[in-house]
Amino acid sequence: MNVLYHNDVTLRERVAECLQDDFKHKAIETAQEVFYAKRGALVEEMGEGWQELRLRATEIRNHVTENLDYYVKLFAENAEANGYIMHYAPTDQDALADVIDIFEKHQAQTTVKSKSMMTEEVGLNEVLEEAGYTVVETDCAECILQKAESKPSHIVVPALHFDRDAICDIFTEKCGYEGTSVPEELTHFLRRYLRPEFLNADIGIRGCNFAVAATGSPTLITNEGNGRMVDSVPKVQIIFVGIDRIVPDLQSLDVMEALVPRSAVGSKMTAYFSVDSGPAHADEVDGPVEAHIILMDNGRSRILKTEFEPMFRCMRCGACLNICPVYRHITGHGYGSIYPGPMGVVMTPNLVGYDEIDTMVFACSLCGACSDHCPATIPLHDLIRAHRIEIVDEGKNHSNEVPVFKLLRKMWSDVGFYKFAMSAGGPMMRLFADSSKGALTVNSTWMPVVKGWTSTRDFDVLSKDRFRTWFKNHKPLAAETPVQENQGTEGGDA
Ligand code: SF4
Repeated sequence: MNVLYHNDVTLRERVAECLQDDFKHKAIETAQEVFYAKRGALVEEMGEGWQELRLRATEIRNHVTENLDYYVKLFAENAEANGYIMHYAPTDQDALADVIDIFEKHQAQTTVKSKSMMTEEVGLNEVLEEAGYTVVETDCAECILQKAESKPSHIVVPALHFDRDAICDIFTEKCGYEGTSVPEELTHFLRRYLRPEFLNADIGIRGCNFAVAATGSPTLITNEGNGRMVDSVPKVQIIFVGIDRIVPDLQSLDVMEALVPRSAVGSKMTAYFSVDSGPAHADEVDGPVEAHIILMDNGRSRILKTEFEPMFRCMRCGACLNICPVYRHITGHGYGSIYPGPMGVVMTPNLVGYDEIDTMVFACSLCGACSDHCPATIPLHDLIRAHRIEIVDEGKNHSNEVPVFKLLRKMWSDVGFYKFAMSAGGPMMRLFADSSKGALTVNSTWMPVVKGWTSTRDFDVLSKDRFRTWFKNHKPLAAETPVQENQGTEGGDA
């Protein structure tokens, strides 16, 4: 099973399960509405400046993508000059092997981690735990997920699907917590609980929001202090950097930093924003003595020079999830990928290929709200549609679709057949309809193709009175009541 995408059950089965979960829906509804309102207020406050910032970010990200070789090399050279040990990982397996090598070299036993979607992407925790190492997630949400053995349901707020009572139960059962579900009490407990873990850890592992090429600096944008503890307490540090995380210089970073917190959670800035510059120097007390950067591709470069290249602009802000009506209903877990929502629907097939996914790319209404919201102006809904076209072109769509669409094509392109289908359709549907509702209902779920619709809503039967008949029998209004010339001037100024 792929760790990035879980295709052990179908999209339909996942969605059916998620639709039963009222708590998740309420949590997502509330989160989307809060983020929407907060982001909207900040965007309004910036006026035209917001669109200018989006376009500037688009230009910067496009420029890096078009010159990726140059910027990867520049970042790596400057990071090495800062004292980082660079590792190049074309695949997830290469990245995992690099991490295991570092653990073996230092005879490490335990690691503390801060939130990193890239380590989720490669299944790092599972691999380290199987190899006998202890992994401690120190981001509050990630720690909850680890204790609950659950997966992230959002790329920015991964434990969205647990409320304070559920978190209280998890901490009570797994961590010996004895307090109430008051958030402050829970977070104070977590702070005390994690402190010895930081002090005892051999290695700190974290991700990177942006990598500044001109200064060789990996950055970290976070609202919790755990990121800096992971950065500075363990003597060895490993930073996962995607090749799509690079920005040219600190001025470009400033543009991204203005966009990400506003887009992600509707705040002007995050509590912590770190720009790192290598391991501790000889005269410094804090910081790792050895720091590694794993620069990972894992399928990203496959989309260069394709229509999916705009995904290189993605900043992982989660704004497209926060506005998506499909995400709101099927929840993050409905997609089956660690990258859910519109960005996940575009990105997951790019990373794992069409053979691995089932019907994930069809979990979209193509409404385009995500594209309007994306701070990097990625045309997400167009890219989702492009995936669908490729899936059909490669003959990987559902086998039932082919005869259905052939029939529809025949119907729409042949006048005689169209007329016959329209006149026969109504009586045929009425044969199977629920007469009290005049519609195909849940009782019609035995019918192939139709059941996908009628299992959740009614399908009205075609009207007996057809428009064509009405149109043929109808006399044009103009012929019945001719318009009087000059009628509007009577009694007027003229
Ligand atoms: S696609 Fe756009 S909105 Fe979605 S996470 Fe990426 S940058 Fe944010």
